[in-house]
Amino acid sequence: MDRFQQLIDGVFEDGAQGFDSLDPATGTPWARMPMASAADVDRAVRAAHRAFHAPDWAGMTATARGRLLYRLADLVQAAAPRLAALETRDTGKIIRETSAQIAYVAEYYRYYAGLADKIEGAHLPIDKPDMEVWLRREPVGVVACIVPWNSQLFLTAVKLGPALAAGCTVVLKASEDGPAPLLDFARLVVEAGFPAGVVNILTGGHEAGQALTSHPLVAHIAFTGGPETARHIVRASAENLASTSLELGGKSPFIVFDDADLESAANAQVAGIFAATGQSCVAGSRLLVQNTVKGAFLKRLKQKAEAIHIGAPQAMETEVGPLCTARQRDRIAGLIARSVAAGARVVTGGTAPAGPGFFFPPTILDCPQNSPALQEEFFGPVLSVQGFDTEAEALHLANATAYGLASGVFTQSLTRAHRMIRGLRAGIVWVNTYRAVSPIAPFGGHGLSGHGREGGMAAALDYTTVKTVWLRTSDAPIPDPFVMR
Ligand code: NAD
Repeated sequence: MDRFQQLIDGVFEDGAQGFDSLDPATGTPWARMPMASAADVDRAVRAAHRAFHAPDWAGMTATARGRLLYRLADLVQAAAPRLAALETRDTGKIIRETSAQIAYVAEYYRYYAGLADKIEGAHLPIDKPDMEVWLRREPVGVVACIVPWNSQLFLTAVKLGPALAAGCTVVLKASEDGPAPLLDFARLVVEAGFPAGVVNILTGGHEAGQALTSHPLVAHIAFTGGPETARHIVRASAENLASTSLELGGKSPFIVFDDADLESAANAQVAGIFAATGQSCVAGSRLLVQNTVKGAFLKRLKQKAEAIHIGAPQAMETEVGPLCTARQRDRIAGLIARSVAAGARVVTGGTAPAGPGFFFPPTILDCPQNSPALQEEFFGPVLSVQGFDTEAEALHLANATAYGLASGVFTQSLTRAHRMIRGLRAGIVWVNTYRAVSPIAPFGGHGLSGHGREGGMAAALDYTTVKTVWLRTSDAPIPDPFVMR
């Protein structure tokens, strides 16, 4: 069996405890992973705290930090085939997707490398003649990054890039499911030349997460995962009032009007829900389609869904691979059963195949109002469908969940597109496209989808704090000490 190690204070170690990671395509153990204990987490946070104040990091110029990030980007690019293969092996994400995504990961590090020496303070035109006042943008301190198993190299880059650009130090906790690519990535961090303790990478679940988010030396928590875990994290962070950015789940509407290019919309919908085997926070998991074209559009979607090639995640022709865990497959099956009991009609799919691995077929459910399938996140290849008659009804239905992450609108009408953009309660609106991302564009949601943004300059500022400096330029004695100036 392969063996992976965690990185604490520049040293690779096995960790006191460990577990076997399962290959999602076969359900059999393939590698031994470390499982961080609370004591491991404490050592990692203390190392990050020491590194934050150490001269080799605290005294490094922003330009030099940027250079290290450029080096990291190059190393990620060079290691792309290995990292992609590891992510595919340990999480079941198909090789076509992991290979394409890793190229993007390098671009995120490059974007933040370039941004490191552009995080500027400000000079204030203060209303007092004998004062100079300016703002310094300083790194917030030790950052806890917590990522789920899906797209973890990507979800790490959108946190680590801006945190390091800002001058923070990091303890990154990979998920207990599929951590191999992140533990391997740890080697690249060391090779890039970041001083010991600046980046620490551990694997663990609830215990390690709890120890990390309640640690008094953690200043900011950047989390991607589900809303229930986010609630735990916010409670844990209350102890020392660490700030948080939370990228959570979604139940994103994909809205198709009858004037849309239906073939393009159908292709985008297939990608929007079945890419990453549906394990994507921005999955367009609720199709809202105008009743005038609902029958024709569903027919087209059913054909496309049934033509999807399901298979081994390592095969280039595979379009849908296994889910990451058996737990996830069983949860999805349970939610489908509840939805069917509440009146949903299975258009295609719906049942896990017999045989090894954690596979689940592309599934479409035609749902009545109040179906659990319209409110709860599957986080799998399941599309819930609703019809609508008017634009007002589409908007009402689109906003009728507690989530607010992404949304898609397909229409040829420019004016309608603008009305929908204004009315949709979501952090992202895609018009006549879906699932486009870029390091330059912020990403995030509101409501149960969380708060804070990843990507763009805004994300880097999240890892800074403002220090206001007042400097008196007069040599005259300070007059009346009891009068506020
Ligand atoms: P999860 O919330 O169960 O786990 C996420 C991470 O939190 C894991 O690393 C886990 O070990 C850790 N964790 C568990 N208990 C913890 C605790 N008490 N304190 C701190 N950390 C703890 O999520 P998951 O099931 O692994 O991932 C799926 C969820 O992530 C979905 O809801 C999905 O929509 C969401 N997601 C969101 C985005 C986004 O950018 N908005 C991206 C991907 C996934």
